[in-house]
Formats: sequence, structure tokens, C-alpha cells
Amino acid sequence: MMSENKKSYEELTYKKKSFYEVFENDTAMVDAAYDYAHDYMRYLDAAKTEREAVTAAIALAEAKGYRAWSLGDEVKVGDRLYFNNRGKNLFLMQIGSEPINSGIRIVAAHIDSPRLDLKPCPLYEDNGMGFLKTHYYGGVRKYQWVTVPLALHGVVIKADGETVNVAIGEDDSDPIFYINDLLPHLGAAQSEKPLGSAIPGEKLNVLIGSRPLADAEKDAVKIHALKLLNDKYGITERDFLSAELCVVPALKARDVGFDRSMIAAYGHDDRVCAYPAMTALFTEENDTHTKMVILADKEETGSDGVTGMQCEVILDLIDTLADALGGKSAIVRANSKCLSSDVTANYEPNFSDVFEIRNSSIINCGVSVSKYTGARGKSSTNDATAEYTAWLRRVLDGAGVVWQIAELGAVDAGGGGTVAKYLSVHNIDTIDIGVGVTAMHAPYELISKADLYEAHRAFAAFFRA
Ligand code: MN
Ligand code: MN
Repeated sequence: MMSENKKSYEELTYKKKSFYEVFENDTAMVDAAYDYAHDYMRYLDAAKTEREAVTAAIALAEAKGYRAWSLGDEVKVGDRLYFNNRGKNLFLMQIGSEPINSGIRIVAAHIDSPRLDLKPCPLYEDNGMGFLKTHYYGGVRKYQWVTVPLALHGVVIKADGETVNVAIGEDDSDPIFYINDLLPHLGAAQSEKPLGSAIPGEKLNVLIGSRPLADAEKDAVKIHALKLLNDKYGITERDFLSAELCVVPALKARDVGFDRSMIAAYGHDDRVCAYPAMTALFTEENDTHTKMVILADKEETGSDGVTGMQCEVILDLIDTLADALGGKSAIVRANSKCLSSDVTANYEPNFSDVFEIRNSSIINCGVSVSKYTGARGKSSTNDATAEYTAWLRRVLDGAGVVWQIAELGAVDAGGGGTVAKYLSVHNIDTIDIGVGVTAMHAPYELISKADLYEAHRAFAAFFRA
């Protein structure tokens, strides 16, 4: 009788289970998750900006038989294509055998991450130190960016159109860059300030040199830096006007913990979803559905601009596929399904007051599904329908994926948004799903290998279903 009641308790209730509990007797699954993480970490190290993430994604895609495609090019069943939008936003497309009117399976992630961008006139010198002025990109906690090793990544486009790629600070033999902070001995007044104002944006100036150029008339440290840049890259100070140079942490992805169960790295948000979206597409054998992986830019600043998810190029692509494959765009969109794959906040035991434990993402309990996001009264939320949420439940449970439901933090503690609403606005059913992150937007964020692997398995199940 007791065992009957125990059984009914388990049937009647919902309890999150950890990946390690589910696969307690299946070490092969745990090994697979750890192996998978290894390649993800290499991707992270190669992709610290959206441009580098696109370049690295194209290399992976081409190895799987994908080829470059542009608007106006032919499309036919069986094609594996990528559309490179300005080197900063990528669409991977696998054209299925099913009629295009039955819809497209879309997984949309973003590949930009919070960082410090150089201003157009960045270079100056002050009492023997040379600096670069920055303008932070996305939601950074400014106090976290001082006294950490920094690298400079990006492009300079010269007036004649020549592209100069810059990456300094990644190789062990490279120099790094640095943002100064006060010593505690003189930091008493600063320490009294709130975290948000102790390091103002105009103090995030990156130290780049201190050795004057011999015989320079003035600004000898600045001129020295410019001369070194000119020798190496052939650029002058005017070329910063048409550049996209980003200051990012000079830190490689590393295993965390005695058990190596976690990964610390820069830019998990949102490459921890972008990467499994790609690997799921590449390993999925089902060629009935037409599938698309979107790697979007500008999510961290609101998804605006020609490479952001609000750009109507997504409609141009769907229109083109519909026309080429004998469908109608409105019908294709109505029958499409989308996963907005972005990170959520993991429950943090040291700051439990901003979380609500029953509805928070818990580390190792699998990929996190968020029916809705938003702040306060769900402001700006996509809020997937219960029907679509139920469909996804069936898909994930059917494939044995370890997943959990999650809200980003306690009500009124804050909130966040994703690209979800920029897909659903086109009449495409969309739901948020992604990996839980600890210390999101920090220079060095943390995720779990188990949750990463379950994201890959979830996206594969979605493509297959
Ligand atoms: Mn994100
Ligand atoms: Mn973010």
C-alpha cells in the first residue's frame, strides 16, 4: 500500500532531476557530455566577437558540406546553404524534401556578447600612459572589467576598402591590455559608492603603453603606439574612424571544479546556444523538414541594425525559399516552429534573494525552457502559447532530453529579453530555451557541461520531430 502511494506521488508531482541523477548508471552519457564540451571550448576560444563567431561557424559548416549562398541564387531540395549577412550574422539552411509550405524548423541564437568597443577617436596619452577610450557594448557590470587581462579583436576597414583583421592578446607570446583601478589604500571614497557607479563608463580606458618614442616632438607614448600599429597593420589614427575594434577578456575557456563538470569562459551568452544549434543541425539525419539556424548579432543592444534579429532579411530569406520551392511565404511562416535559444540565469546560492527557487534554472538539471521572459508584469515578453509549450514537452520527453522550466529570477527582481519576439512577430510559433549561466555578462561566465550537452540533444530532437 505504501509503495502504491509512493508511486502515485511520483506520478502526481513535478520534480526537476539532475542530468547526473538521470544518467547515474550510464557513464557513457556523462563521458559524451564531457567530450562534447571539449570542442565547444575550442569554438569559444576562436570566436570572441560576432565576426569571429561567423568565420568559425562557416568553417564548421563547410566541413559538413554547406556552401555559400546569396539572395537571388538558386535553391533546391537537398541543398545545404549558408547566407552570410555582412560577416556578422549567419543563416544556415538545410532544404528538406517536405513541401516548404509545411514550415521551417528554426533555431535562433545570438553570437554577440557584452564587451568594450573602442570609440572612433580612442587614442590619447596622459602623464606617461597611453590609453584607448571605450564605449561599453551591452549590459556590462563595469566594475568587473578593471584589472583583468584584455585582448583587442576586430577589423579596421581602410578608406580604400581594404580589411585589416586585428587580434592581439590571445597568443601566449602576445601582450595583453589592462584597465587600471585604485589601490585599497586610496580607495576609501570609491568603496563607499554603489557598485554601479564606482567605475563610470568614462573611466573604462584601456592602458596600451608607456614607452615614449625617441625624438618624438609631443605625445611620445601615443605616437609610439601609432607607429607600432602602422608597422604591423599599415593603419593610421584616421583608420579608427571606420573600425570595429572590441576589447574582450584575454582568457581561454577552462574546466572548473575538481570534477571538471563546469566551464568558465568569456561569451557563453550566447555561444553556448549557438554552438549546439549548429552541431544539432549538422548531426541531424532527418531531411524531411527544412531547417534553419540563425546566428544573430546585436541581441545585447536590442537586436536593431542590419545584422540584428529585427532586420527584415529573415523575411527576405523565407520569401525566397517559399518562391523557389513552390510555396507561399505566409503559409510557410504560419507552419514554422522556432526555438529562441538563449541563456537564462542559473539559481545562485550566494544570492538566493533575487531568485525564486521553484521556478529557477538549476545547474545540471538540463536545458532550460522559458515559456515567457520580460520584466515586471512580463513586459516585452514573447510568451509562447500553452499549446506550443506542450508540443515541445512531448518532443523533449520523447527524446529523453533532461530539461527544466525556468524563469529568469524572482518577480520584480529584474528580467531580460531575447530574440523570441522578433521571430514571433512574423507569425512563427516561438519559445525560449537555453543553457543556464552563472554570472551572466561577467568577463568570465560559468556553465555546466551537462546542461550544454542537453541543449545539443534538445535542438537535435526539435529538428527531428
Ligand atoms: Mn543572450
Ligand atoms: Mn546577454
